[in-house]
Amino acid sequence: MVVFLLCMVLIVGVLLEDFSSRYNDQTRKAAIYISQGMEEAGMDYLRDLPLQNDQRITLIAQDGTVLFDNTTDPAVMENHREREEVQEAFAEGTGESTRYSDTLSKKTYYYAVLLSNGDVVRVATTQNAAWTLMFATLQPILIVVLVAMILSGVMASGIAKKIIRPINSIDLDHPRTGECYDELKPFLERIEAQNKQIKKQMHQIEIEHERRENLRKEFTANVSHELKTPLTSISGFAEIIKNGIAKPEDVKRFAGNIYDEAQRLSNMVGDIIKLSQLDEGGGAMQREPIDLYEVACSVKSALASVAQKMHVDVCVKGEHVVIDAVSQVVDEIVYNLCENAIKYNIEGGSVVMCVQEDALSVRFIVQDTGIGIAPDEIERVAERFYRVNKSHSKEVAGTGLGLSIVKHGAAFLGAQMQIESEVGKGTKVSILFEKELV
Ligand code: ADP
Repeated sequence: MVVFLLCMVLIVGVLLEDFSSRYNDQTRKAAIYISQGMEEAGMDYLRDLPLQNDQRITLIAQDGTVLFDNTTDPAVMENHREREEVQEAFAEGTGESTRYSDTLSKKTYYYAVLLSNGDVVRVATTQNAAWTLMFATLQPILIVVLVAMILSGVMASGIAKKIIRPINSIDLDHPRTGECYDELKPFLERIEAQNKQIKKQMHQIEIEHERRENLRKEFTANVSHELKTPLTSISGFAEIIKNGIAKPEDVKRFAGNIYDEAQRLSNMVGDIIKLSQLDEGGGAMQREPIDLYEVACSVKSALASVAQKMHVDVCVKGEHVVIDAVSQVVDEIVYNLCENAIKYNIEGGSVVMCVQEDALSVRFIVQDTGIGIAPDEIERVAERFYRVNKSHSKEVAGTGLGLSIVKHGAAFLGAQMQIESEVGKGTKVSILFEKELV
């Protein structure tokens, strides 16, 4: 349709140009005929001339006075001496010009011829004539274009529907069944491959979902159990004191037990909150430059009394390495690792915290000479609430959440936790920060 319309504009332009030049040609010829007629018969020729439909004939005297005009009364017409074509005719015998006529107020072509008596006869035609002729010619063309447009619209819609039908009938679940264009086969094969991949991924998501759901259930069960144990002993001791059964000399010991259990509960709730913060992506925690060596030193002094009680020697080695991390998370990691290395150590054992840096990574290592972890337990120690050998761990206060916090904290900072251990010899826990991530 756009092509049709453009064609129409082109046709109108070409026709208008052609008709105008033909009309101008006719005007020139008419002026010459009339001038010859007037040479023969004078003014009478003009008066007897049958009125042409849109040709205007004017006779102008040497001084510019209009002597005759076939459309307007010459008495009311102004002097024509200054008209371009009239001046040209006086000078050269003939003259022409195209302009907007004052009298006709339309674009007009003028042709003037000088007569032997010194007067000038001028013939004028307006471009209206060319437009009128063009519209007359254009009418059948317009009808043809209109019919062609309607026909092409109907046909285009029919053909489009026919082409689209097999595409619309493709079964996207089984794209290769049914008939369709050969050109679409590679596309359909890709859809089928993608369908398979989506199914596979859905299956994996379901498995992952189930795993997470089980973990969640296990976690909830563990939380309830772990919270209930200290609560049971707290309420047991409190009940004995409340009922007055406790001997006065035991009250202090019972109150101490209540205090210890409440402390354990409070630690556990604190650890659960830290873990859930890490699970949620750390909230609004800000990264900042942190000197790992400094953190290790301050943790060493924070745990000095515990280490002293256990007769464990703690030392910090390595170099000052600054990483870009969240201070609270780094503190937790270092504190938990150092605390474990002291707690699960032997009398007179030692703990070494070491900060190392090479071209690719930064390593924070905590090595102890403690009881160690059995190979099959290493996998599990970072699980929530998991404690090796519950009976032994009972002697050592803990929530079973420390290594879980370390592992999640490291992952949050883009680092990895590695545990190497040998029962009876000691444990080495490394936190590996890849350089581009720190
Ligand atoms: P918690 O120390 O509160 O029990 P953790 O998550 O920190 O909990 O540790 C889980 C378990 O892993 C501990 O109960 C302990 O049995 C074992 N463990 C952790 N660190 C060490 C270590 N340095 N040496 C030996 N055993 C360890």
